[in-house]
Amino acid sequence: MPNLVESNKCCGCAACAEKCAKGAISMQPNEEGFLHPVINHSVCIECGLCEKTCPGIQPAVNMEKSLTPRAYIIQHKDETIRYQSTSGGAFTAIAENIIRKGGVVFGAIMTEDLKVKHGYVEAKEELARFRNSKYVQSEIGDSYKLAKKFLTEGRFVCFSGTPCQINGLYKFLRRDYNNLIAVDVVCKSVPSPLVFEKYIEYKKQKEKRISDIVFRDKKRGFLYCTMAHYRSHEARLVARDQYRRGSESDEWLRLFLSGQISRRSCMTCPYQTKERVGDFTLGDIWETGISSFDDNKGTTLVHVWTQKGLNLLNSIQNEIKCIPYPFEKSRGAERNVVMKVKSNRESLFKDVNKLTSTEFFRKYAPYNAKVKVKNYLRFVLWKIDLQTLVRRLKHSVIHKK
Ligand SMILES: Cc1cc2nc3c(=O)[nH]c(=O)nc-3n(C[C@H](O)[C@H](O)[C@H](O)COP(=O)(O)OP(=O)(O)OC[C@H]3O[C@@H](n4cnc5c(N)ncnc54)[C@H](O)[C@@H]3O)c2cc1C
Ligand code: SF4
Ligand code: SF4
Ligand code: SF4
Repeated sequence: MPNLVESNKCCGCAACAEKCAKGAISMQPNEEGFLHPVINHSVCIECGLCEKTCPGIQPAVNMEKSLTPRAYIIQHKDETIRYQSTSGGAFTAIAENIIRKGGVVFGAIMTEDLKVKHGYVEAKEELARFRNSKYVQSEIGDSYKLAKKFLTEGRFVCFSGTPCQINGLYKFLRRDYNNLIAVDVVCKSVPSPLVFEKYIEYKKQKEKRISDIVFRDKKRGFLYCTMAHYRSHEARLVARDQYRRGSESDEWLRLFLSGQISRRSCMTCPYQTKERVGDFTLGDIWETGISSFDDNKGTTLVHVWTQKGLNLLNSIQNEIKCIPYPFEKSRGAERNVVMKVKSNRESLFKDVNKLTSTEFFRKYAPYNAKVKVKNYLRFVLWKIDLQTLVRRLKHSVIHKK
């Protein structure tokens, strides 16, 4: 009987399921809503391939990392792209290069029924689907298999995702490909798709139709990015939102940022180290200290780990504003400490299956008088343009420490 990593440490990368030639493994949601492998023993031939593939059992294959790592701050020159992106739009600039070379780009997409899944695109116009971080664990589906197919056909492939997904891809491929560019994002944790469904159900009581959700909308600037809901994709394009709240008051952002609804394996994440898995690592940088960058529209802090990553970066200089950033100051990509398991985690996940959405959010993220005041104050600070100043002061104090 195959022995995969224990459930608490399984990151849900799906490499085992994709690797099994017999189709004996399916990824199914557990009681917390996170996908875990389930083995159909009547089909399994006990070949052991899934065990060899599981990064929890055997760490990643050793990819080329001969380059002395470097850090850069990057902004896409196209302001619409930068506005739609979480940070500075560096991801789109990298992806556009792959598309120009006739390649394929993989990343996390929000589907029409508001699920987060991995998918791929082959045209520049479609890259918008990947823009902006979706704060829900993305479902890999058959993306590793498809990526391998494109790679063996000799096409360029850019594969983006969380570090554990990139590691899952490497484990699935079992060798390096010159035509593969892997992009991982700095991530603290991923929250539960089941709780997200509950959030949508809760919000739909007031907003009858939600067709698009932006987790880091920049209508109020990069420093006060907000959760925004749109009735349609067209409404999003003209920034006509029907709901907007920041991390001080939106129920989803509050639960996500507190770590209460995160996947259990994120509490023992092995990827929050100085060295990351991809050719590139992308993260936020709130203040660069360089006035031409700190325009409150977003900048990506990019780490480059491989020579092929550096070659690609050199070839996209016309599309981006890019300057080197001291690597030591950026502390590699290791800016997050691994989260601790929250004491109410067990009861929260029991309640998500038991309570109605109203009861659940009233209990775990109440929109009470205190939160309403915070929400109002933040809105006023933003309106009179003090929000940015407050954030900047806060960041400069943190930076000095
Ligand atoms: C769940 C999550 C948590 C994050 N936490 C942090 C953090 O704590 N600190 C920090 O500095 N940066 C964090 N980031 C990264 C940051 O938010 C930006 O994604 C990054 O700076 C790139 O921004 P960009 O403007 O260059 O590209 P964007 O155009 O915004 O690129 C988005 C990229 O993220 C990928 N992506 C989006 N959602 C998901 C998902 N659910 N799963 C896998 N991949 C996804 C897309 O495929 C695409 O490659 C996080 C990202 C995610 C997805
Ligand atoms: S042991 Fe082989 S057949 Fe069985 S689940 Fe694992 S990969 Fe599939
Ligand atoms: S391969 Fe990934 S999904 Fe499968 S058991 Fe290991 S960690 Fe979990
Ligand atoms: S914190 Fe670690 S385990 Fe969790 S999604 Fe990110 S890389 Fe994967």
